[in-house]
Amino acid sequence: MYRTHTCGVLRIQDVQTEVTLAGWVQTIRKFGAITFVDLRDRYGITQLLFGEELNHRLEQQPLGREFVVQIRGTVLERSNKNPNIPTGEIEIQVLNYTVLNSSAVPPFTIQDDTDGGDDLRMKYRYLDLRRNMVKHNLELRYAVNRSARNYLHENGFMDIETPFLIKSTPEGARDFVVPSRMNAGQFYALPQSPQTFKQLLMVSGYDRYYQIVKCFRDEDLRADRQPEFTQIDCEMSFVEQEDILRMFEGLIRRIFKDVKAIDYTDPVEKISWENAMWRYGNDKPDIRFGMPVVNYKFPPHVFPAKQGALSHGLPGGFKVFEEAETVVAISVPRCSDYSRKQTDELTEWVKRPQIGMSGLAFIKCNPDGTFKSSFDKFYSETQLKDLATAAEAKAGDLILILAGREERTRKAISELRLEMGKRLGLRKEYEFKLLWVVDFPLFEYDPGENRWIARHHPFTSPKPSDISIMINNSPVIDHPEKYLEHPYANIKANAYDMVLNGNEIGGGSIRIFQRGLQEKMFAALGMSREEALHKFGFLLGAFEYGAPPHGGIAFGFDRLCAILGGSESIRDFIAFPKNNSGRDVMLDAPATIDDQQLEELHIRINLPG
Ligand code: ASP
Repeated sequence: MYRTHTCGVLRIQDVQTEVTLAGWVQTIRKFGAITFVDLRDRYGITQLLFGEELNHRLEQQPLGREFVVQIRGTVLERSNKNPNIPTGEIEIQVLNYTVLNSSAVPPFTIQDDTDGGDDLRMKYRYLDLRRNMVKHNLELRYAVNRSARNYLHENGFMDIETPFLIKSTPEGARDFVVPSRMNAGQFYALPQSPQTFKQLLMVSGYDRYYQIVKCFRDEDLRADRQPEFTQIDCEMSFVEQEDILRMFEGLIRRIFKDVKAIDYTDPVEKISWENAMWRYGNDKPDIRFGMPVVNYKFPPHVFPAKQGALSHGLPGGFKVFEEAETVVAISVPRCSDYSRKQTDELTEWVKRPQIGMSGLAFIKCNPDGTFKSSFDKFYSETQLKDLATAAEAKAGDLILILAGREERTRKAISELRLEMGKRLGLRKEYEFKLLWVVDFPLFEYDPGENRWIARHHPFTSPKPSDISIMINNSPVIDHPEKYLEHPYANIKANAYDMVLNGNEIGGGSIRIFQRGLQEKMFAALGMSREEALHKFGFLLGAFEYGAPPHGGIAFGFDRLCAILGGSESIRDFIAFPKNNSGRDVMLDAPATIDDQQLEELHIRINLPG
C-alpha cells in the first residue's frame, strides 16, 4: 500500500497513529541536526520531521523540491502550530522514507505566488496544475459541472453524446476541418455546437436533452476566447420562451447555491435588446449598478419622462453637440468634486484608441445647486440644469457626455459606464446579478454582401407575432442605404441571452420546427434551394416527420466558471488551454505532419512564398 492517508487529513486526534504518506516535496528546511519537509498532494500539506538518525541518511540520499517520496512515521502534536493550514497542529516523525522518483529543478516555483510567467507556466502546464490556485479553479469547475448535472438529471434531462466528426456548414465562425483518409478529398468538420443534433433529438422524442460538450470555432481569437471551449448545451420540446427561462434560471440558481452557497432568490429581470442598447450602450449590461445612459439626441418618445426637460431638443450653440449624430451621457454619483487633473485624465481615457472618442464633455452638479460645465461658454445655467434633469442627475453628481458617430459613441459610453462603475467600486466581484436580454433582432444586415445574416443562428424562430412579416415579404434589399426600413429589419427573434455581471453566459432560442418556415429562413439568408438542401437537407427532411415545437439554450461553461471564481480569464479554468494565438505551447501544436500522412490524405501543402 503506497499510503494510509493523504497529506490533507491528519488532525490532532490522530496523534500517535502510525501512518504512511506519499506525495511531493514542497519545501525542505534544515535546522542543525533535524530537517523539516513539507509533503504535498492534491489534498494538502503535511509537515514531516526527520530526526537525527534519518538526517544522516538524508545526506547520502538527499531530497529535492518536487521529489516524489513515501514516508512511514508517527503523528505527533506540533509544538509550533500553524493555524493557517488544516494539518497545522500535527507533524509526522518520520521513521523511514523511500524516494519513489526524483525531480529536475522545476522551471518555476510551485507556489501560490509563482515566479513563472504565462508562457513558461503553459509550457510546463503539468507543473502549473500542481499549484493551489489552479487546482482550486479546476475544483470549482468540477463543482459547477456536478451541480449542473444533478439539476438537469433531477429535471428529467438526459445526457446524450453527439458526434464530433460532422459536415462543414459554416455560419458565423469558421469550421475546423479534418481530412478523411478513407474518403479521399473529403473533409469532416468539428462542430461549432451540437445545434442541429439536439434539434434532431427533439424530433426523435428525447424531449429533455443536455450535454456538457466541447465546441470548436476557428475564429480570430479575441481576448479570452479559446478555439475549443465547453458548453452546457440543452434542448427541450413542447416549451415556450417562459418555460425555458424558468428552467434555466433554476439551473443557475442551483449552481450559485451548490458552488457558492448563495441563495439567489431575486427574480431575474428581463430587458429587451433595444432597451439594453439604449440604456446601457450594449446588449450584456452589468446591472450591479445603475448609471444608465441618457440619449440627449434620441427621439423623445423612448424615455419620455427624462426627455421632458429637453422637450425642445438639445439646445443649439455648441457645435460639437450640434454636429454629432449622437450625444449620450451618464451621471456619475458623488463625483462633482473631480479636479481638473481627474477630468483631464478621464478625457485621455476616452481618447485611447480602444475607446476612440475625440473628447469628453462634463457637467458638475455642485452640491449647492449650481452647475459648472466644460462648455459653459455655450450654455446658460438654466440649459445646464435641463441637461442635468434629463440625465436624472442629483446634486453632487458628475455628468459625463460623449458625442460622435452613433455606433462608436454608444460603445464608448458603455465602456465609460463600466469603467466608472469599476473605479467607484460598484462592480463587486462577490455580488452576482442575473439578467435576461430578450427580443433580439432576428437578422443583421451584411453590407458587404447586401444580405441578411442570422443574429443568433438560422434555426432561431421569429417571435410568433412577427412570423407573418417573414412569410409575406421578400428578403431582397433593393435600397441598401435604407435597409433599416426593410420589414426584415424589424423582425424580432424568439431568442434570449442570460447575462451575469456584464457577461453573456448563455444564449438560446425557440426554434423553427416547420420545414416551410425553415426553408424561408434559409432563403432569407441568401441560400439557394440547392445549397439549403445540400447543407441542411437532413434537418429539413426530419421536419417532415413530426417535429415537435422546441427550444433550448447553451451556457458558456468556461466563462461561467471564471465568473464564479472571480476571474476575468477563462484559461485559468481550463486544464490545458491554448494561448492567444490558438497554440498549445506544451504540445507545440498545431504542427506540420509528415509527408506520408499527407500522401495518405491526398493533401498537398501550398504555402505562399
Ligand atoms: N447552439 C447555440 C450556440 O452555440 C445555442 C443555442 O441556441 O442553444 O450559441
